[in-house]
Amino acid sequence: TVRVRFAPSPTGHLHIGSVRTALFNFLYARRHGGEFVLRIEDTDTNRNIEGAELAFLDGFHWLGIQWDEGIDVGGPYAPYRCMERLDLYREHVQKLLDNGQAYPCFCTDEELAAEREAAEREGRVPQYSGRCRALSEEERQAKIDAGIPYSIRFRVPENQEIVVDDLIRGHVTFNSSDIGDYVIVKSNGIPTYNFQVAVDDAAMKITHVIRAEEHLSNTPRQILVFQAFGYEIPTFAHLPIVLDHNRKKLSKRDPSVLPIQTYEELGYVPHAIINFLALLGWSPEGEEELFDIDALCSQFDLGRVSKAGAVFDVDKLNWMANQYFKALAPDEATAMVRRQLKRVGQALPDGVSEDWLEQVVSLYQEQMVCAADFIELSKGFFDKRVAYDEEALELLEQPGSKEVVAAYLALAKADDEWTAEASRARFKQIQKEQGVKGRALFMPVRAALTGQVHGPDLQKTIALLPRSWVLERLASALE
Ligand code: GLU
Repeated sequence: TVRVRFAPSPTGHLHIGSVRTALFNFLYARRHGGEFVLRIEDTDTNRNIEGAELAFLDGFHWLGIQWDEGIDVGGPYAPYRCMERLDLYREHVQKLLDNGQAYPCFCTDEELAAEREAAEREGRVPQYSGRCRALSEEERQAKIDAGIPYSIRFRVPENQEIVVDDLIRGHVTFNSSDIGDYVIVKSNGIPTYNFQVAVDDAAMKITHVIRAEEHLSNTPRQILVFQAFGYEIPTFAHLPIVLDHNRKKLSKRDPSVLPIQTYEELGYVPHAIINFLALLGWSPEGEEELFDIDALCSQFDLGRVSKAGAVFDVDKLNWMANQYFKALAPDEATAMVRRQLKRVGQALPDGVSEDWLEQVVSLYQEQMVCAADFIELSKGFFDKRVAYDEEALELLEQPGSKEVVAAYLALAKADDEWTAEASRARFKQIQKEQGVKGRALFMPVRAALTGQVHGPDLQKTIALLPRSWVLERLASALE
């Protein structure tokens, strides 16, 4: 069976690029009836951030990405947090020390830095000189007995071709001579990523390693570890890099690399994010772009993942988010909007009816990308004062505008019925009396009431605004 894993380090936010890696693993497992493992790679202990792990879990929970085995759900290969697996790494390291495939290195940071600088001066690619490789057993023991701190290095075989048959990158060849003996256990006794990851992928019977392209260059080091133990080497698939709209590598400061929590807070439909990320490097057959989760699970495959960088197109994300937001049932959209109002501390106006909010939401839902958009769009329903934009002011100055506004105000004052139908009837009457119609009839009232010349259905807008606000706004537009 296919077994894949997502193995984040809890060293920062779960940003949207890492979510894509997790998603591709998840979809690949579902597509092939396999298992998806979540493993937390927390061995870089200085960089671990308190709470990062919990934020990962929350983020994936919100998105609906589930794993079959992992820190919170357990599984046959537990524990799934690397710092709880140190014994396993220790056993493995011991085997390599015993058969000479690894050796302790006593070089100090200063010595190593000097080596690196010398290489750079001479235009060579820096590589560990292998100085401690040549120590005799007695010399080693003497240094250990003297309490000199040491790391452990992997003895890299010379001039060996290492081939990665990557499902996305194709046939990639490395030569072991380009890789210096690398540290597999730091002087604090904790293994490095390239060692830990291979030991764990083998122990957890991972069949496919699907991860970010930046790890391709690590792969030969990991393959050497698999080979050292005679473990079966998994199939690799390195996902294309994510680029910004200028086709540059996304930087950590790019607005499109927001932590996933931001999208949750802003009230995006989670599946919109999933759908968007699924297409970030993968393309299905045909022109269709909107896929529910079942369709993604049944169609996704690595064969259609491109090796070219995938452009993170914010406009496309927003387009897609809007597709999903406008398709929400009114009560769902309203529930999401309620959370936004709560987030910004916005109470409903006094005395509005039970279904008032849902009706106001329905005015804007069609154009919303996420629930947070409502706050700006619906300002006029929450604040009695209106700000007039240029266009609205100009329109109100045009001949005939104020007459219409005045007439509407007079009719509204005399009318207790506060519905869209009643408003429509008022306009009809003005049309009859003043002989104006179309733009000239509706726009002045819209401008006076909302401060803008564009907006949602005018009759509904009027009916949903408190009557006293309408009367006041129309009156002040006439001043
Ligand atoms: N912990 C590594 C990272 O977060 C995982 C890389 C891998 O999937 O092997 O980049």
